[in-house]
Amino acid sequence: MTTEVDPDYIGMMRETMEGWYSKPRKGWHVTDIALCPRQRVFKQIDPLPITDKELNMYSSGKGIHEAVQHLFMSNPGMFEKEKYVEYGDIVGSIDIFDKKRNSPLEFKTLRSSKIDKPKSFQEEQLRYYMAMQNSHTGYMIYQCLMNFGNDAWRQFKVTMTEEQRRDQLEKLAREIKALAYAMENKDPSLARGVYSDEGLSWMCEDCPYTKECMQMRKAGAAA
Ligand code: SF4
Repeated sequence: MTTEVDPDYIGMMRETMEGWYSKPRKGWHVTDIALCPRQRVFKQIDPLPITDKELNMYSSGKGIHEAVQHLFMSNPGMFEKEKYVEYGDIVGSIDIFDKKRNSPLEFKTLRSSKIDKPKSFQEEQLRYYMAMQNSHTGYMIYQCLMNFGNDAWRQFKVTMTEEQRRDQLEKLAREIKALAYAMENKDPSLARGVYSDEGLSWMCEDCPYTKECMQMRKAGAAA
């Protein structure tokens, strides 16, 4: 009697994700610079297999996002989901767009029970979208997954003047230009790392490229 080997269904999901992520993307996306641009370059030139943790983050995040978008899209006259925005060769997609108020809504989940103010890097992403869409008002909407009471949801309003929107577009172009230069040269050390960024340095704790990044920092300091 031959022993049948069980298919690795979870591995199949990881492989599918890997296939998606390995496809080259045309142009630049706001999310390329929303987290760590240096890690983005590492991932491009030295891709690593998708981990179960990444698969977990992807499926739970995607599932919740789609549920929330579904609720908003019961009113298609007022809302649009994944609204496409562009600035030069940089594109973005807004989670939910309030067409009547010209307001982008960015939706995020947190593995915590409360939040008092938007996370700076997430608000920054919203600000890019506001600048690209020329919106003076946008909203961050948070769902606190570890809160099982009646205050699991928070909404924060973000406003921008015309001058701030102009500055934000200039910043976006600058950031993408620096990332593109590092990508062209296949050199992560040319891209900004987030190790000194108060809001994002937590990424370094779990980054698969920490050792290489640290060596680059040391080499940079010694030069
Ligand atoms: S160690 Fe930190 S700064 Fe370096 S690539 Fe990773 S996340 Fe970015």
